[in-house]
Amino acid sequence: MKVTKISSFPPLYDHEFQQASENLRRTLPLVNQHKTPVNPVNYAVWYEYVSGDNAQLSEAIDRRLQKNEPITAELTQQLYEKFVLMDMPGRLSQTNNGLKLVVDNTLENINRAEAAATQYSSGLNQSQSQLEQCSDVQELKTLVGQILSNTQQLSQSSSELRSELSRSTEEIMKLREELEAVKHSARTDSLTGLLNRGSFDQELAGLCRDQNLNFSLALFDLDNFKRLNDTFGHLVGDKVLQYFASVLNQFRDDIHITARFGGEEMAMLFVHSSLEESFIIAETIREKFAASRLKRKDSEESIGQVTVSVGISQMQAGDQPHDLIDRADKALYKSKADGRNRVNFF
Ligand code: GH3
Ligand code: MG
Ligand code: MG
Repeated sequence: MKVTKISSFPPLYDHEFQQASENLRRTLPLVNQHKTPVNPVNYAVWYEYVSGDNAQLSEAIDRRLQKNEPITAELTQQLYEKFVLMDMPGRLSQTNNGLKLVVDNTLENINRAEAAATQYSSGLNQSQSQLEQCSDVQELKTLVGQILSNTQQLSQSSSELRSELSRSTEEIMKLREELEAVKHSARTDSLTGLLNRGSFDQELAGLCRDQNLNFSLALFDLDNFKRLNDTFGHLVGDKVLQYFASVLNQFRDDIHITARFGGEEMAMLFVHSSLEESFIIAETIREKFAASRLKRKDSEESIGQVTVSVGISQMQAGDQPHDLIDRADKALYKSKADGRNRVNFF
């Protein structure tokens, strides 16, 4: 089974040797044709273009090619940041700059407040020695007046500090939300909202570290999906992928994990589950999906039955992530070979 790259940050390439070499053969002429130097940025952009795995990038390039607009090195750099790095460095540096500003501003305010307090305190000391020598009522009144006005100034600068600090707190809350959003989009597949492949790999590696944990891996591969795309178009294909992801999520609980494993392949990790339990859930998902009567939204035309084949493997002592994936893949292969729309385990 060929695993294709899907949008994630950092980018993840899983093409097999032959496919990657074929992509290289097709990429280099494009880089040269557009008179851009063969550097990692230009190579990555055209590599993703020829591999066809990065739909948004391909669309952006095709739009320009159709209008006969040149794809300059400057443009490739922009495409690289937006569609290969998924805007992540920009968003992170924006958050980082925001945080730096808030911290600098807060420190400045604290320093100002400290200076005001020091000045007030030395003013008080001075007033105290003047008070000790004071015998005249008029002089006493002036002194008390001075102390009062200094106190008012201090209280004013404290309340300014308080409102500055509360503005900073608000700003920090916003930055924290933005940071959470960046973290979330770095972990999420943008089409389906499931975990992306990079995060799935991390989760699986984490589970494998606990060799006593009982869990299963199920790989779901939509059947004859290429034909569905060819018949109804990629956009309908995308909707079906989103729908299947929503079915998967209906069977997920707090501890199970659902992910986009590759193009039209999804994965589910059934944590604390026996093979039998996982099999039953996978079978229910398969049945539910096969029973869906999917229609095009625009024309209400039925797109016919869409099915999914499934392969399951169960954690065994000594298993590394690739062992579980290999066994689930073998089981999936058997499901395909036996006629699709079925579940097998290995
Ligand atoms: P099989 O039953 O053997 O799995 O056949 P298949 O056609 O599903 O398998 P194949 O690997 O030949 O084709 C997978 C297709 O999935 C090809 C690719 O265009 C499509 N695909 C992969 N990712 C996406 C996506 O994000 N959106 C859409 N619409 N199609 C995708
Ligand atoms: Mg496939
Ligand atoms: Mg398929």
